[in-house]
Amino acid sequence: MAEPKIAEPPHLVTDLKTLCLATIAAHWERFTQDARRKRQPHADYLADLMSFEVAKRRERRIQRRIQEARFPILKTLDSFDFSAQPGLDRNEVLELFRCAFVAEAANVVLLGGVGTGKTHLAIALGMACCQHDHRVCFTTAAELTNTFVEAKREGRLSRKLEQMARFDVVILDELGYVPFDREGADLLFGFITRVYERRSLVVTTNLPFAKWSEVFLDATAAAAVIDRIVHHATVLQTEGSSYRLKTAKRQGRRRKAMS
Ligand code: ADP
Ligand code: MG
Repeated sequence: MAEPKIAEPPHLVTDLKTLCLATIAAHWERFTQDARRKRQPHADYLADLMSFEVAKRRERRIQRRIQEARFPILKTLDSFDFSAQPGLDRNEVLELFRCAFVAEAANVVLLGGVGTGKTHLAIALGMACCQHDHRVCFTTAAELTNTFVEAKREGRLSRKLEQMARFDVVILDELGYVPFDREGADLLFGFITRVYERRSLVVTTNLPFAKWSEVFLDATAAAAVIDRIVHHATVLQTEGSSYRLKTAKRQGRRRKAMS
């Protein structure tokens, strides 16, 4: 038998909406019916309503953080195959994913060859930071540098720098893939200096530190960047050949074996 409808108290929904309690406004009736059926004490009923609103708000906030981060694709640690990276210390990675490094404004460097899972881990870590309600921005080193060069040309560099420095975590993917010109190197260096010990950087790179002078054009600038990034940083090194190639080869072998 269908449960009798509950008459809506006058003003309830408009009052809830005025108080910006949209989730309760949409679900109060179901909660009230449950409470009546379970003979739930008033205090418990009120607490259930409130925690539902809080949970939904948190969900929406996390979704907003993930959208704002502009990840090129969504990746999680669950889908990361640790057996392909025996050199990685799983406990160290799990510790990192608790995201305490953000409060310490510490950095993370993922260093390794192409296709070894650096971007995967960087995105997954960024997603974990979003889950912890941190503001995250995903960008490539080249893209961010170009944005700064353009902003400078248009006389809005300081606004752009300020906007970027508002993120708790900036993921700089692919540092070292494209060398900068003098202006680009200086602008990126300026940003790194500005956020040093205030914000977290997650950097992925295929270049060992000794070669960063090729990206920052001279050894002094490179040393200054390394000093700032690595001073408070966890450095994770990914190794081996490309995961894509490895899995493609494995699948090829399996197909061959089946034919
Ligand atoms: P990199 O940034 O080091 O060049 P990516 O993170 O882009 O490499 O990895 C290339 C592809 O292989 C992605 O689709 C990624 O999800 C996958 N991949 C790489 N390493 C792993 C791994 N250990 N477990 C699961 N997927 C992986
Ligand atoms: Mg990558």
